Amino acid sequence: MQPFKSKLPEVGTTIFTEMSVLANQHHAINLGQGFPDYPMPEALVAKVAAAMHEGNNQYTHMNGYPKLRKQLAQKYRAIYQADLNGETNITITPGGTYAIYTALTTVLQTNDEVIVFEPAYDSYIPTIELNGAVAVPVPMQHPAYTIDWDLVRSKITSRTRMIVINSPHNPTGAVLQPEDMVQLQALVEDTNILIVSDEVYEHLIFNGLEHQSVLRYPELLKRSFVCFSFGKTYHCTGWKMGYCIAPEPLMQEFRKVHQFNCFSCNTPMQVGLANHLEENKDYLVLGLMMQEKKDYFEKAMQNTRFKALPSYGSYFQLYDYSAISELSEKEFAVWLTREYGVTTIPVSAFYKMPVENKVVRFCFAKQESLLDAAVEKLLQV
Ligand code: GLN
Repeated sequence: MQPFKSKLPEVGTTIFTEMSVLANQHHAINLGQGFPDYPMPEALVAKVAAAMHEGNNQYTHMNGYPKLRKQLAQKYRAIYQADLNGETNITITPGGTYAIYTALTTVLQTNDEVIVFEPAYDSYIPTIELNGAVAVPVPMQHPAYTIDWDLVRSKITSRTRMIVINSPHNPTGAVLQPEDMVQLQALVEDTNILIVSDEVYEHLIFNGLEHQSVLRYPELLKRSFVCFSFGKTYHCTGWKMGYCIAPEPLMQEFRKVHQFNCFSCNTPMQVGLANHLEENKDYLVLGLMMQEKKDYFEKAMQNTRFKALPSYGSYFQLYDYSAISELSEKEFAVWLTREYGVTTIPVSAFYKMPVENKVVRFCFAKQESLLDAAVEKLLQV
């Protein structure tokens, strides 16, 4: 038998798995892969357990449990004034990454171009390439990681089919401002360009900033797939539950792809989430809670030789290690795990273009005791 031709010849195992495996091997404190180490809301666990006991254990509707979609439409009407219908605009997915994958796969044809901002979450470019399309990376401006919209404009061609945006941004913690949304809107006006907006960290935003959801901008929403994650909102990344919101014509096509891949998601979790959302608006205080963790970690890190870059949202903060080492980001992250027992993510893993920076990503979505233990080790570096 001939070996078949790889569809992703340049891709290895994702950096998150690679670094988590290394962390385990060295019994290191894992501030690499983004996941909380504190418990999820007990009330939601109880609601899922009740849903199972009550017999909600068969397939639900392929687009998602209807009450959950209705609750989400109400939530977004309340917080972003979005005019949504759960029936036609919302599909529940097994995680945010799947929602992004499906949105890209729904649209992309061979040789289409997709603009992505680097550093870019590591699934975007392989997904684009699996679809025979071409990623066009545009650098965000280090160290503030802002977007130069004139540079974006210069990358648009007749083949540009989509733009992927992400705010709050993984891995940098940068957030888009209202001016960015206005620029984006002006850029795509009178074009056929569609948008994928990765908003999985929508509630994890700091300093009283307002999340600039595409759902707030009806003109942008008309051409967008907006992707979310229950895992990030309810501290349960292992549930792998998320959803996509899009206007009806786009969502109809999205569902054609979704029905032959996942078909329908875990029923008891959707029932539990629907009932929880009906009674609870706990997501409104998430930003404050996460900011406390970020501030706590950042303050403790001031006594190390790492230099914090500002983080305005997400689970993450970048730290510059140029005062410590000349190693490349990947080498440094491996060395830090081996020699000091703290695991991070090298930001170079989020780039296709070559980069010269010396920054690694720390996940601060942890209990203070774990952050303390990590900083104690980092003080030796
Ligand atoms: N989103 C998480 C992160 O950025 C990881 C998810 C994954 O491991 N695929 O760390």
